[in-house]
Amino acid sequence: MSEYVDLHSHSTASDGTFAPAYVVRLAKESGVAALALTDHDTIAGLPEASDAAKEVGIEFLNGIEISCEVPKPATLHMLGYGVDIDSKPLRELTNQLMAGRDDRNPRIIKKLNELGVSITMSEVEQEAGGDVVGRPHIAAVMIRKGYVSSIKQAFDKYLATGAAAYFDRDRPDPKRGIELIRQAGGLPVLAHPVQLRTENDAQLERIVKDLADLGLAGVEVIHSDHDAALVEKYSRLAERFGLLKTGGSDFHGTNKKDIRLGVANGRRIPGEFYEAIRAKLAAK
Ligand code: AMP
Ligand code: ZN
Ligand code: FE
Ligand code: FE
Repeated sequence: MSEYVDLHSHSTASDGTFAPAYVVRLAKESGVAALALTDHDTIAGLPEASDAAKEVGIEFLNGIEISCEVPKPATLHMLGYGVDIDSKPLRELTNQLMAGRDDRNPRIIKKLNELGVSITMSEVEQEAGGDVVGRPHIAAVMIRKGYVSSIKQAFDKYLATGAAAYFDRDRPDPKRGIELIRQAGGLPVLAHPVQLRTENDAQLERIVKDLADLGLAGVEVIHSDHDAALVEKYSRLAERFGLLKTGGSDFHGTNKKDIRLGVANGRRIPGEFYEAIRAKLAAK
């Protein structure tokens, strides 16, 4: 396949601003040959996206992005490709993750109210549209009501880890994330390794090796947060541990204004990445 693909995208099912079918249509218009929808903590958008992909004639891959528990200040997101949306353990996990959000979000709102930011849970839910209500939705309401001027300001001042209205939520550890994706017939892939914020290469290698021992199948080497040097570094790492290389833009619609489908930091994601995932899924 000489074409390019996009294996990391978000819709209104989580914190993207466009409906799943619309993300697919945009992908088609952007010349993307294969798309994976990888909403945070949910598979709710996959049937709609998959149908739309058939309609417009592009390849589609089921996906999910699960936020895993790791020591601060690291962030570890696990992508799952080719997951079966009827998998019971996966459904149980997504329900649990939703419950964790339902527990956390009202606490954030209460704290914001105490800090003089008058927004309500129902405004935030309306903003979210879907079941996955996240901090970007809270930020959007804060912008709309004039309390902050940007998503960045909302996070820096209130919502980021350790900021004034920050509350954590329950997350599965990486081992459980990997196991559940495997149980659902999918391939677990470490998203944007740059967000691990490792101090040196030895630490990064140790983490990837440990994850590989637990069943990790791939590393997202191309991503909007990765410059050329990082793409090179993560590619070598993936090759060294015999892992798949994947890539995506992490498109969120207008929630991340400078990110377009099919482009990650000025780079295209080769079709071979998609073909390799398909081949691995078929061999299972
Ligand atoms: P949540 O799902 O509620 O935990 O929120 C996570 C989402 O917030 C992810 O989509 C991130 O892209 C976004 N996010 C996390 N930290 C920041 C930040 N400092 N600035 C802007 N967006 C952020
Ligand atoms: Zn997101
Ligand atoms: Fe992520
Ligand atoms: Fe993402």
